[in-house]
Amino acid sequence: MNTLTLHLSHLDHNYNCIREKINSNTQLVGVVKAEGYGSSSVHFARRLVDLGVDYLAVAYTEEGQELRNQGITIPIMVFYPLENSLEALIDSCLEPCLYSQTILEGFKKILLQKKITQYPIHIKYNTGLNRLGFHPNQSDWVIHQMENNCFQLESVYSHLAASEAERPSLLCNKQITLFEGIRTKHSTASSPSPKFHLLNSSGVFNYPECQYDMVRCGIALHGFANHPEWDIQLKPVSVLESIVTQIHTVKKGDFVGYDHGWNAPQDTQIATLPLGHADGIGRHFGHHQGSVIIHGQMAPIVGNVCMDLLMVDVGSVRCKEGDRVVFFNPSHTASSFAKQGNSISYELLTGLGSRIKRVVRA
Ligand SMILES: *Cc1c(COP(=O)(O)O)cnc(C)c1O
Repeated sequence: MNTLTLHLSHLDHNYNCIREKINSNTQLVGVVKAEGYGSSSVHFARRLVDLGVDYLAVAYTEEGQELRNQGITIPIMVFYPLENSLEALIDSCLEPCLYSQTILEGFKKILLQKKITQYPIHIKYNTGLNRLGFHPNQSDWVIHQMENNCFQLESVYSHLAASEAERPSLLCNKQITLFEGIRTKHSTASSPSPKFHLLNSSGVFNYPECQYDMVRCGIALHGFANHPEWDIQLKPVSVLESIVTQIHTVKKGDFVGYDHGWNAPQDTQIATLPLGHADGIGRHFGHHQGSVIIHGQMAPIVGNVCMDLLMVDVGSVRCKEGDRVVFFNPSHTASSFAKQGNSISYELLTGLGSRIKRVVRA
């Protein structure tokens, strides 16, 4: 009934598009956290491996374990490991991004206990997003820690807070300046020098001169780069479709949905669809915010979105029970549908529930 179809040939296109924007010796990290942005992390990751991606990245250790269990063997970065997952991370040969004194010391203690040396790690600095990361003025301490042979420092990175914002961005410029300082310190302190990286998807389009040695792309692989000019260079990978479960005729003045959600201003027809907020189509799409496509025509979502179902006004659309409904596709994209509900492609895609069947098209 509800299907999210992944067009992997569009992933190929997006991958090649990113590759064309970066230097041939810049490494590409394919970010497949959150089930590969709600798609199917394993299918997505396998295709990226076939395409020649240099690294994969996930947010949490358990996501990396899942990829290892599925037979993925290339290096995997874990962006935000928690201390209680570090042993499991080592057992799965995952590479942690260390972002604080606490996590670095915790990891070092485990390596010493296990008598492991030269374990590959990444260091994350907070240059202005103020989320996770070492403060730039901790760099001397970090560099000193790297003298210990527990660690093999693979890369040093930071993350821009507004990489899609129109240039010049004071915040991004400040972050770039701070990162340059960190880079100078780290590259003079160790030989060979670690790799450096700063850019996510939008960054690749907006700050190609700051690509350093690696870039980390997630959403662009799915066909979005957070700006219309960049989005048109990419192809949306996923299509969300459903079907009409039932059609009702309602009279002017009738209410539709919970809590008197909608009061029909005229006689019309209502189609009920088998998707609701439990599937990731949140209540913010209700009350005429979101619209779906039936036989090429737009039908607005009326009233409150329910847990398992939602209703659309099909008064001006000829349709019948069992007909196909499109929530998003390459023309009414996940990004534009998300915008209707005051959301973004990231939130919409990653929130799609497990009741929606994932179908992979080569
Ligand atoms: C999720 C994430 C990315 C990928 O960002 P996109 O905007 O999807 O390309 C890159 N770096 C870090 C640290 C992330 O957490």
